[in-house]
Amino acid sequence: MEKLIIFSAPSGSGKTTVVKHLLEVMDQQLAFSVSATTRSPRPGELNGREYHFLQLDDFREKIKDGAFLEHEEVYAGILYGTLWSEVKKIWADGKAVVFDVDVKGGLNLKRQFGDQALAVFLRPPSVDVLMERLTKRSTEVEHQLQERIAKANYELSFESQYDTVVVNDKLDVTFATCEKLVSDFIAKD
Ligand code: ADP
Ligand code: 5GP
Repeated sequence: MEKLIIFSAPSGSGKTTVVKHLLEVMDQQLAFSVSATTRSPRPGELNGREYHFLQLDDFREKIKDGAFLEHEEVYAGILYGTLWSEVKKIWADGKAVVFDVDVKGGLNLKRQFGDQALAVFLRPPSVDVLMERLTKRSTEVEHQLQERIAKANYELSFESQYDTVVVNDKLDVTFATCEKLVSDFIAKD
């Protein structure tokens, strides 16, 4: 079966950290779906690796062409979307696709794919811890940081709609829990 594994959580919960780890330890079974976005690359991010960085016009053109499985305006004026081309390439390689998408995009994919998809909600131990992690990461300017924190409570209200919730407190425990969840899901018919 062609499978999808969705990780959603408020920004700063640890999705990128967890997904990167899973891809390292399960690289024969999993591959990452590189999304498209209209935001600018952060230092160290490469076009085609973390994201396909697009101008707004190009993104809109792709929406018209039906290139996306789903797309969302995750932050004001900033679009993100999952590309069919990525998913098809990974399935053709015989691997399951891993996504790091916002809560709406995650639930949208789950609705489309049902039992073919495992939807994991990664939750920080508290909003205070989330703020601390985001602030320490230092990747957002102040107003973006505020926007991400303000959105966190709204996003946290979606957790019950996910297949499973993992609290990301101690990272080694989170890694072990997610590895088990994902390998059990992949092993299922
Ligand atoms: P997201 O992709 O959800 O925005 P990141 O993976 O970038 O989140 O994590 C946000 C920050 O928190 C990063 O600096 C990361 O190193 C740190 N972090 C992630 N998980 C933990 C954890 N369990 N304990 C402490 N710090 C963590
Ligand atoms: P960041 O800018 O921190 O990389 O990501 C911001 C948010 O956009 C995160 O919640 C991330 O999961 C989400 N995101 C990344 N790619 C996609 C996508 O293809 N679709 C949707 N809906 N959200 C995405």
